Amino acid sequence: MVNSVIEEQESLNLFSSTQKVIQIALKKLGYSNEMYELLKAPLRILTVRIPIRMDDGSIRIFTGYRSQHNDAVGPTKGGVRFHPEVNEEEVKALSIWMSLKCGITNLPYGGGKGGIICNPREMSFRELENLSRGYVRAISQIVGPTKDIPAPDVYTNSQIMAWMMDEYSQIREFDSPGFITGKPIVLGGSQGRETATARGVTICIGEAVKKKGIDLKGARVVIQGFGNAGSYLAKFMHDAGARVVGVSDVYGGIYDPNGLDINNLLDRRDSFGTFSQQFQHTITNEELLELDCDILVPAAISNQITAKNAHKIKAKIIVEAANGPTTIEATNILTEQGTLLIPDILASSGGVTVSYFEWVQNNQGYYWSEEEVEQKLAKVMIDSFDNIYETAHSHKVDMRLAAYMVGIKRMAEASHYRGWV
Ligand code: GLU
Repeated sequence: MVNSVIEEQESLNLFSSTQKVIQIALKKLGYSNEMYELLKAPLRILTVRIPIRMDDGSIRIFTGYRSQHNDAVGPTKGGVRFHPEVNEEEVKALSIWMSLKCGITNLPYGGGKGGIICNPREMSFRELENLSRGYVRAISQIVGPTKDIPAPDVYTNSQIMAWMMDEYSQIREFDSPGFITGKPIVLGGSQGRETATARGVTICIGEAVKKKGIDLKGARVVIQGFGNAGSYLAKFMHDAGARVVGVSDVYGGIYDPNGLDINNLLDRRDSFGTFSQQFQHTITNEELLELDCDILVPAAISNQITAKNAHKIKAKIIVEAANGPTTIEATNILTEQGTLLIPDILASSGGVTVSYFEWVQNNQGYYWSEEEVEQKLAKVMIDSFDNIYETAHSHKVDMRLAAYMVGIKRMAEASHYRGWV
């Protein structure tokens, strides 16, 4: 009980702190308070309850959400997470962040997000399939290839996307690959989608080290989280000649100042990105964040760097691969310390960018090579990085506020042209 109250307060903070930054960003851009009133919350959020027969014969009712922030620019877009701590406030905040990511990368979408309160670690394959299909049946009225396009997020993967695509196609009675992205390649998935978030983070790191005059070869990197983003990123950093000195999962982390054997860790991790229980000498996730390093990448969950630990962070560059890992107070402390912080809505936008490429390929029925996808992704990420870096300098604001300004501008313009505000 106490725990759930605390969690709720934390996620309420995520939502209200996002609103605060949006308000400041719109003001800096010269927009009226009416524009803020429109953009401060999603236009639509659907709550659904999904009855599932479990393997033991019992029935359980799962609660899910789909939030659509704003569709002035185009259909809404964003992942679906399966997690025990999913809640309405968090899904709402995450859908706003998707709008910002699509604005930054200039994709023709608004932001959406979905989630189901469940613990996939404790569910069988059959139960997960039924839940995925049940969710699509429950939200089918408000989603579709030109309305709202889901994708993977925390604890959802290409298999879950395949079940969802199949369910949607059966409901609509025609093949609908463009309904969802992050699918397996044989079902219309894109080359490079699986690694896209980590590739995007890698490109941001490449730009950030140039700004800080650090050589990536030999640079010490710490990564919190070993899921889709964290694990591929560890590999890309290792391959680029950086020294990955610390990594962690939900239970704890491991540290070696000489560099960890990343390929061995990749072989050992399970599908939820856990490995640390196989090690005797581990450190906590809090200790991991404070390790002596050049580049710190929080790639796990929100609210990890707060006013309590921000001044203990030694990294010169922080690249946020997770959504919301650093609080606003911590952002201010880090900026004062001279840490270069690459905000989540920029650093983690590689995933949705390649999702957009997947959707374009589905719509035209013509598929691109991995090299083509990676070239196009690199261009989008570098342009977005430069745009935000320049905005931060010309307006004398931190990188997060600059990212919000770039991210919200196009949506405000589109809403204005449509005559909404
Ligand atoms: N869930 C990912 C994100 O938060 C990807 C969304 C997508 O591909 O649409 O950006």
